[in-house]
Amino acid sequence: MVRRILFLAILTGVLSLYGLPQIQILGNVVKPYTLREGGNLDSLLTQTAPGTAEALLIASDGTAVRLYRDTFAQIRIEPSNNGWESRGDNLPPVCDLNNIVAIAVERSNRIFALRLLDGLEETEVITPYAAVMKQFAIEGTSSRNGKYVTKYKSVASQWSIPADSTLVLDYKRPEYSLTGNVRFDRIRFTAQGDTVVGLWKNPPAESIYSLHGRIAPLMKEGPLLMIFVDSFGLRLRDHCKATGERFALLDYPLQPMRAAYPPVTAASYWAVGTGESYYLRGDRTTILSDILPANTNGIILEDSRPLYQAPVPVVANTDRNNNGTIDDDIYQAARAELDKGHQFMLVHFHSIDDAGHEFGPYSPERLARAREVSGYVDDLVQRWNGPVIVFSDHGMHDDGRHGGTHGISAIEDMLALWGRIK
Ligand SMILES: [Zn+2]
Ligand SMILES: [Zn+2]
Repeated sequence: MVRRILFLAILTGVLSLYGLPQIQILGNVVKPYTLREGGNLDSLLTQTAPGTAEALLIASDGTAVRLYRDTFAQIRIEPSNNGWESRGDNLPPVCDLNNIVAIAVERSNRIFALRLLDGLEETEVITPYAAVMKQFAIEGTSSRNGKYVTKYKSVASQWSIPADSTLVLDYKRPEYSLTGNVRFDRIRFTAQGDTVVGLWKNPPAESIYSLHGRIAPLMKEGPLLMIFVDSFGLRLRDHCKATGERFALLDYPLQPMRAAYPPVTAASYWAVGTGESYYLRGDRTTILSDILPANTNGIILEDSRPLYQAPVPVVANTDRNNNGTIDDDIYQAARAELDKGHQFMLVHFHSIDDAGHEFGPYSPERLARAREVSGYVDDLVQRWNGPVIVFSDHGMHDDGRHGGTHGISAIEDMLALWGRIK
């Protein structure tokens, strides 16, 4: 009876519709599914959670059996008197469970994993399936006809993780500090009702949000140049240094900085441009309106698709010389603006990001772009008369398919850079 209560805790929200209890498919899925019909486990999982590599069948008394893909076709899920049971064909008898209430699945598809970050490192990635497994202890492994299965027993009712004063990353809010626990709920981790995808202890003090607050004081010192080097994160900078690259960007006093979550250009650009969360922008599309009076002599130089408007002209650039990158065109446009007496200039270089997506975060192609952009940046820094800030919006990680991507709570994505150069 005690274990039955524990499982009611895991399976909050499961109600019987047809007299029979239902089986929840949980773990590494983006939506919880409910099985309403029995059948062969292989075909049931193919329909609801394709690509499942292993599964934990969970009975209401806390007994569970861990199965690998090569056994799925030999398991039948069938209705019995007042529940569902599993029966294995030519498998060890532990596969025969009564009153099955859930099947937790392990698969590598897009899921709500929880990443634990500490300082500049990522210490753990907990998948929803791993969180389920943390609630069970192994009882023994048995085999028959060369197929291995492992029996488990529940040990904890509610697995949770303390997050005292830790920065929380989630999908619906800007970063916030949490005192309390993050809990696991079937397919995701939650705090205060929201999905949590990251907990960050001892994060860098500067964030892309606080960078916004530096703009107005710097403009009091003189004409301000902001150089936005898209995707030039801490990991890329350190990789370039470690491999013996030598260019000006590597010598700048750039510090690690928290990207906005999700670590994508639109969210971080909005954060530095307004100091506010991308989620709360509503239908607003104008940045820097709290800083730049409408009559400011200034300019923003962008690639072919500017994301936001501003009180100063936002100028799009194209690959005018058709050499496969717009950054040299942006650099030329910036050079042409230098003697126009601007009080504010923001120059956004994008090719390091583009090359990273195409060739990978640490590819020679991306390093070559970084070297090239560094030359443009340093030339503008040397020529500018006034304070200069250089910053990036996020980093990038390997996408496992020879390219790069960003937008998750991985430490590589979350660590941007910033520095006052002049
Ligand atoms: Zn970006
Ligand atoms: Zn990108």
